[in-house]
This record gives sequence, structure tokens and C-alpha cells, in this order.
Amino acid sequence: MREEVYSLCFMCSVRCPIKVTVENGQVTFLEGSPYVPDMAGSLCPKGAAGIGLLNDDQRVQTPLIRSGPRGSGHWRQASWDEALDYVAENMKKIIDSYGPQSITLGERQQLSTHISKTFLKALGSPNHFTHDALCKGSVNTACRSLFGYTDGQMNVDYKNTKHLVLYGRNVFESVTVKGTNQIMQAMDNGAKLTYIDPRVTVTATKANRYLPIRPATDLALNYALMHVILKEDLYDRSFVHKWVQGLDELKNFVNSFTPEWAEQETGIKAKEIVDLAREISRDKPKVIFHYGYRGAHHANEIYLRRSILILNCLMGSVETPGGIYFKKGPGEVGGKPARKLVDQDLPKPEAIRFDKAGTPDFPLPDPAHGVAQYLPQAILNEDPYPIKCLFAYRLDPLMSMPDTQTTLKALEKLDLVVAIDINYSDIAWYADVILPESTYLERTDCVQQANSLKPQMFLRQQAVSPRYDTKPGPMILKGLADRLGIGQYFPYNSVEELVQWQLEPTGFSIDDFKAKGFVSYTDKQIFWDREKDLKLKTKSGKIEFTSSLLEEAGFKSFPEYETPQIPDKDNEFRLVVGRCVFHTHVSTQNNPYLNEILSENCLWINDRAAARLGIADQDMVEVRSPVNSGLIKAKVTNMIQPGAVFMLHGFGHQAQAARRSFNRGVSDAMLQENISDTIGGSPAFHDTFVTVHKVN
Ligand code: SF4
Repeated sequence: MREEVYSLCFMCSVRCPIKVTVENGQVTFLEGSPYVPDMAGSLCPKGAAGIGLLNDDQRVQTPLIRSGPRGSGHWRQASWDEALDYVAENMKKIIDSYGPQSITLGERQQLSTHISKTFLKALGSPNHFTHDALCKGSVNTACRSLFGYTDGQMNVDYKNTKHLVLYGRNVFESVTVKGTNQIMQAMDNGAKLTYIDPRVTVTATKANRYLPIRPATDLALNYALMHVILKEDLYDRSFVHKWVQGLDELKNFVNSFTPEWAEQETGIKAKEIVDLAREISRDKPKVIFHYGYRGAHHANEIYLRRSILILNCLMGSVETPGGIYFKKGPGEVGGKPARKLVDQDLPKPEAIRFDKAGTPDFPLPDPAHGVAQYLPQAILNEDPYPIKCLFAYRLDPLMSMPDTQTTLKALEKLDLVVAIDINYSDIAWYADVILPESTYLERTDCVQQANSLKPQMFLRQQAVSPRYDTKPGPMILKGLADRLGIGQYFPYNSVEELVQWQLEPTGFSIDDFKAKGFVSYTDKQIFWDREKDLKLKTKSGKIEFTSSLLEEAGFKSFPEYETPQIPDKDNEFRLVVGRCVFHTHVSTQNNPYLNEILSENCLWINDRAAARLGIADQDMVEVRSPVNSGLIKAKVTNMIQPGAVFMLHGFGHQAQAARRSFNRGVSDAMLQENISDTIGGSPAFHDTFVTVHKVN
């Protein structure tokens, strides 16, 4: 029997709409949904490797309870009842002794995040956190400081743009399928692409203009671009005068940041900077300075992200086709969104968050996501209180948070570590209990409220039965909730029932998703009237170059520029990390297909620097940071700036049961110091300096 199921990919967090072909209970083909414009039937390599995940016998197959020391790999198989009883009993003991705030749960934001948030709130703990801060906490804060909206409430219209500027946003390797297709269409229609990165990526090779910038100096480039735009009156006067607060302050601030000054900082010729400013302003407002997907590089990240957003505002490229726009919800057309479990009347936790986000100590990071990288210190210092339990739900703190050794030291202080995961991630390998989740092809999931120019809803629909003894996350958490006496907040007996409950106010039913996997509230794109009503959510109702959010919290809108640190030894480099098209963060390195294509990372090092250090291509080198060291193969190349070395994120796994990825390459998290943007909230992943030397 042959069947087609319309669903959502989950090989990464982008959630591309897909068509799944099922024959006799087996998934035989995965492709992009033909019904969704710009998917064009395409998938990225990770999406195509979903069948590898489904059929992988190296994933976690039953609930497991640890039977030896942590991380030893000694487990006993358990039934679901036994595993859930075990976890619930231990949680009760911890809550009795330390209070509900001692329970934490970290996850990658996903469709069922409202379930885990509800789980913690119902227990009385404020300590739900997501991976978001590790990726784009400072982007979120920067967006709120200017518009009053989070980055998640905004998007860009690639398809209609005339000029796209990307700062290390390597779109042709770290793809979103739809976005990448749209960029290619725009370029086919004559749009220009400017790419800025210390490293020559695939995206750099496709760009009309590639600026090989000195690491960590993007902010200097942006200040010089603003200088030229303002001095030569190249900005969108009518938009800026209508909507911007703080133009004069910006003019004064950038007055001294000339292109000649920026040339000294960035290594980019002053003339190139002037040319870019003039050229892009000719295409305004259909231009995008992309404010970033991952914005977690430097300790001043919030100001870099603000500067990128300010450039858009100067071009008037806000709420306009070909620019950036605010996402529209169903309310725009008189519709209702899907319900979430968190919409219920839940207890309000009394304690502050472990990371203090949203308090005077750490006022600006978004408490809806928290600041994940603050967890190890909070545990070690018992500040603001003892933390005793961590749920790691599709989030691996050992490979995603900087400074793995310190994270491990902190985890040793916990009484209970529970992993909800599909694979043997490093944190699952370390955990006391693994509760195995079904893959995205084996489960229905919560509704995706897809707000955009056209509000829609998508549904991940189960294509095949679970291959092993696994469950969907919402059922795992419900099983625990029932045992902990908070089951009343989980009013469903299956995920399908939960979806029906979510859909009740919307007027749609689960059957409406069968044909295409999604429903639309309207067929028309919605742009707000940018002459009259931008619906900005800042205190002033304007785009705040001078930000009340920042200044009321005691921070400057335009702090003094500081020249970034440069390596001061011959063999010292700034460690830069990034993604490739074959792997998602830390979660796909053991996938049988993807591992075959790329099984380990290597260290990109500039050829002149390598010659100086006697390092040849493929030599084994030791990379040493202030917190750890590792051995890795060198890739000697002229395609990276001399002051930086680069490695792909996500390799160097230590979970032995994931045999293909075990010990292959080096983990960047192990080498990185835990440095943060203490205003915006992101870690500064590119502010660690390492030394490199050849080993024999
Ligand atoms: S970008 Fe690739 S892995 Fe991510 S959801 Fe889309 S197809 Fe899947």
C-alpha cells in the first residue's frame, strides 16, 4: 500500500514542509512539499537524510536507567512505567528538599515547547530555558530595543529584495530551504548579494561583492557605512523622519567613524565601503542588511545587531516588500490562533530565574528563553539557590554551551539528570535516565502557528508507527505530570487529542491538514501601512535609535567603540566556528548518511600563518584554549584571514553508543570560554583565543 503524508521536517529547527511517501509501512521517499511556494519539492541534505534517522539502530530504543557511574555507559532497560516512576519519585524528593525552583528544563525551541513550559510552571519552577540565547539572545534583545518586537516576530522578504547584505550568514551552506530558494530567485532577477566574512564560504563564492573582513570588526564597518549614508544624505528621509527617534544622536555618534578609520579596523578599503553605501542606497527600500540567524559571536553582540538593524531603518527597508517585515497573526484577518497549554491559568512561580533574566541584575535578556550558558555557574555557586535537577530535552549542554569541563563539573552537583532525546547525545550518555522520543516521522506534533505575511498553521503528521519503544515528547511529559499530581494541566490522552484541543478556537479541524499539511487564514500578503501605522511596540511608538529599553536599564544606546583584541603571539588565533550544509548543530553527526559524507571537522588555518608554524595541510595540530585542548587535522588554506582559525561546530562527540561520531574531530564547546554579551544575553562564541602547534 502506498500513501503520501504531508508533514514537517525536523532534521533541523527550520521545519520545512515535506511530502513523505510511505509504502507498506516504510518511508521510501522524502521531498519538499509541492504545495508550499518556494519549497519547489526541494530538501537540504539533512532533510533528505531523515530516513537514516528513522532506521538508525544506533539511536535510543527503550527507556534506560543508569546502572553504573555517570557517563560509564552502563544502563538497564526499563519499561515506560518504571522509567517515569523513577524520574517522578526522584523529582518529588528534590522538590521536598529544595523547592520546585531546583528543577530546570532546557530544550531547543520546538512545537511542543508550550508543553514543557507548562510542566515547569505547574510544578512552580521558573526555570525553563531554551537554546535560543546560545544562538540569538542578543539578536532578540537588539530587535526589542529598536522595534519592541522580538527577532522571532520579524522576518525578511528575500524574494523581492534588490540587495542583500549578509554578515557571516552563510545561507548557501547553513540553509533554510525556502529562504535559499528565494535568494536564488531574487539573484536570478538581478538582486545583488554582498557577503562579509573572514572566511571564504560557499556563500562568499556566490556573492557579487565579498568583503574579507578582519575578525570581530563588523561593527566598525557598519559605523562607517552609517557615516557615509548620513553624510551624503543617502537615507530614506521621509521614512526616517516619520518613524525614527534618535537620528541626531546617531549622526553625532558616527561622525568620527570615517571609511578611512574603518579601513584601519576592518582591512576593507575605504573606497569599497563608500561604494557599498552608495550602491545599496540606490536600491532602497528593497534592501536587506540581514540581522542574523546566529548572533552569538562577541561580548558587544547587541550593538553589532543593533547597527545592522539601524542600517535597514536608514534605508527605510522596514515593513516593505523586499525588506524586513513584522509577522502577522490570525488576528489581522479576524481569525484565532491555536491554543497553547501555557494559555491556561497556571501557578505563578515565586522564585526568580536561575539566570536572573528579567531582574535588575540581568534586565534585558528575554525571560521567555532565559540565558542557558549561565546554568553551570548558577549550579556551582548555588546562586540564586541550589539547583538539583536538569531535564535536557533535545538540548545538549555538553556540546552546545561553552566550556564543557565546567559544565560537567556543575552537572556532578545535580541529583537527577534526565535526557529526552532520540539519539545518544553526550548529555543522554551522561544522564541518569534517558526517555527516548519518537522521530518526527513517527509522531504527530503540536500545531505550528506560522505567523508571517500570510498567517497559516502547519501540522507535523505521523507517517509511520514508532520503530522502537519510544513516545512523543508531549506524552512523556504528560506521563510525568500525572505522576507528580499536575495532570489536570495536560487535558489529552494522545497528541491527536491535544491537537484537536489546540484547534478548537480556530475553526479548523485536524482533518483540514490531511490534504496539504497546512491551512491558511488568508491568501493575501499583509503589510501594515508604513505611512500611518507601523504598530511599533517601543515605549515611544517609534523606532528607537536612542533606546528606552537600554537606557532605562542603565546602558548606552551608543557606547564608545572599542577596537577588538588581536592575537598577540605568533601561534595565537581567534577561534571562529560555523555550520555546514550536512549537519545540524550537534544532532546529526551520527546519522548514517550524513556521517558518511562528513564525519569529522578540521581546523582551517591561513596558509601564511601555517607556513610560519611549520604546519602542512592534513597535519595533526593541538589547539589549546584557556579552558581545554584538542587534537585536530589542519586544513591549510588561503581562504581565511590570518588572525583567525575556523572549525565546524558539533563534532568530537563522547557518547560511545553513537559509534559513527564517537571521538571524531574536536568539540568547539570544549575549547570555548564561557564569555557572554552581558547586556544582550548571547554567549561570545568568537571571543576565545587559541594557540595552535603541530604535533608529531
Ligand atoms: S532546512 Fe533541511 S533539515 Fe532543516 S527543516 Fe528544512 S529540509 Fe529539514
